[in-house]
Order: sequence, then structure tokens, then C-alpha cells
Amino acid sequence: MSAAAGAASDTAACPKHMTYGPCGGVGADGGCEIGTARCVFVDDPVVPWRGPPGSGGVAPAGRELLAIAARRPLVLAGMPAAPLSAASIVECGQILRGAVDAVLAGDAATSRVQFPPAYRALLIQAEGLRVWAGLNCRDRNRVALEAEIAALAHAGVAAVHCVTGDHTLSGLRPDATPVFDLEGTELVPLAGAVGLLVSVAESPNAPPVAHRAARLAEKARAGARLAMLQYCGEAADVAAFAAAVRAAGADLPLVPGVPVVVDRPGAELLASFAGAALPAGFVEEVLTAADPYAAGVRVAVSHARELLDVEGVAGVLLGGGAAAGAEPRLAAAFAEIGRELGGGG
Ligand code: SF4
Repeated sequence: MSAAAGAASDTAACPKHMTYGPCGGVGADGGCEIGTARCVFVDDPVVPWRGPPGSGGVAPAGRELLAIAARRPLVLAGMPAAPLSAASIVECGQILRGAVDAVLAGDAATSRVQFPPAYRALLIQAEGLRVWAGLNCRDRNRVALEAEIAALAHAGVAAVHCVTGDHTLSGLRPDATPVFDLEGTELVPLAGAVGLLVSVAESPNAPPVAHRAARLAEKARAGARLAMLQYCGEAADVAAFAAAVRAAGADLPLVPGVPVVVDRPGAELLASFAGAALPAGFVEEVLTAADPYAAGVRVAVSHARELLDVEGVAGVLLGGGAAAGAEPRLAAAFAEIGRELGGGG
């Protein structure tokens, strides 16, 4: 556990050893992401950031993104390439090039084993795309994370998305030992110290819902410059959360997720995300359409435009999944939506 421990919660009982919990995996009933116990943070006040305030400059690659955000909304997309496949990265990268401003290279419960972040970033960048590298605390201890941050900075990634990460028991590699030597909030100043533009995640719909905005404000105090939001319903729900973040004292640009569904496996993957709430009828409209791909693109563009009208929203993140082998099709959907929204310029 971090030396910053000391909250009212019995944090030693947290399976992720968190100090600045709760994570985004809290169940709707307040249950822990793992097992049947109640989350040890869910009934307690927000834990304030105890480190120094985040500060420091941003390297040129990150400044490029900030300059785009200053003149128009950012259009980001997940990287749909098959795990551990350089050929798939090339194929999907070529489809996405010029259509989005950066790709977020993270993982999902169904694709836990990925190339190391910096190596993956170099493969993606070779296809002419900016990389927003995902970095989780599940798979690496603090020494390995420090090395990875140094490598990402040297590789020239545009930004890094610092998350605690899902527990190994929630993905396809329950045989792996989870690390959680650090947590997402503690990664923020480490990445910021080497000039990386840093984003964090928040799940507005995960309990304790009333504390999520204030929790995000603490991540801003640690040095986060943007926040990516888990799907949390309608644009009005995002607007309410954005207002709560401002009320909590943080002027943090928000990048909500836009679910892109083009087939049934993708819809099932979305349904598995903890704390996610999709707009009413969103998935049904796509899956019952004569052409689910076209419908998926249409509803995603429409939802993205509604989100981009919300005060405090600086961009959108196109996300979702597809059946194995359908990665280029999802990349094509991301590219079509990205161009429609004016991304990649
Ligand atoms: S829900 Fe998350 S923060 Fe809460 S106890 Fe479980 S792992 Fe820890």
C-alpha cells in the first residue's frame, strides 16, 4: 500500500490496495468488483490528494493535442487491432490515419495481454497516428511503471491515460497475480514529471455516485489534465456530472466515451463494462436495424454531437468492441465517425 494511506476506510481490505479509492468497478449495490464483500471506500468521504499539486510542462506531442483542443473538440478512438498482432495494428492504423486525432491504446477484459505500451505505441505511431497510451497498475509494479513511463516519453507519445485497472479476476487471465503496487492517481504525477500529457478515468455512474465528481477533482489536483468518462447515459447526465466537477473546484476538460456498436459481440462487450450506462435504446436500435453497421455509425455520430454541445466537454472517445476478426470493420466505423466529427485534421 502507498505511504499516503490513512483514510477512514479499511483500505488493507481493498483487493487493489488502493488509497484513493473507490475504483470504477464498484457494483450498483456497493459491492466490491471482486467477490461479495462491500467496497471498503463506498461509505466514506472522498480521500483528498496528499501529494504535491501537479505541475510542469507538457512535451511537444502533448502540446499538439492541447492546441487542437483549443480550436475544436478532440476526436479520439480506441485501437481496435487484435492483441499481439503487429499486422492488425498496421491494418487498423491505416484505416484510422487522418480520421481521428489520437488512438487510445488500452486493453479490455477480453484482451488483457497486449504488447508492452511503449512498443505498441511505436508500432501505432509508425502508421501515422498519435498515441494516447493506456497504462494500468494491475500488470506492473512501481519500478516497471517508472520504466514504462520513461519509455513512453522517449517514444514521443502524445499522452498517457493513467488507470488503476481492472482486477485480473475480472478478465480472461485470472491465473495472473495482480500487482497494484501503485494506483492510477499515484501514476499521474510520475507521468506528468516527464512532460507527458496525463488523463485519468472516472465512472460517474459507479457508487458512490455523489462523490465521483469530487474524486475526479482530487485527481486533477494530482496533475491530471483531462478526464475520460465511462459511458454514463444521456448528454444531460454528462452535463450534470460536468457541473458537479466544476462545483468541486476542478476545471478539468472531459472526454466522454461514445459507444460504437456494429455487431452483437460488440454489444455484449459493452454490456460487460462495470459502471457503464448507455443512452436509452442505443444498442437495440443498432441490432434491430437492417444494416447494423450503418445504424451504429449514425447513432454514434448523433450521440457524439449531443455530447460535444455540453459545457466542459473537450472531445469524445469512440469506443467499443467487435467480434474477433472484425477489427478492421470497427476501425472503419471509428474512421467514418471521426471524419464526420471533423477529427484528424
Ligand atoms: S470496489 Fe474497487 S476500490 Fe472498492 S474494495 Fe473493491 S477493488 Fe477496492
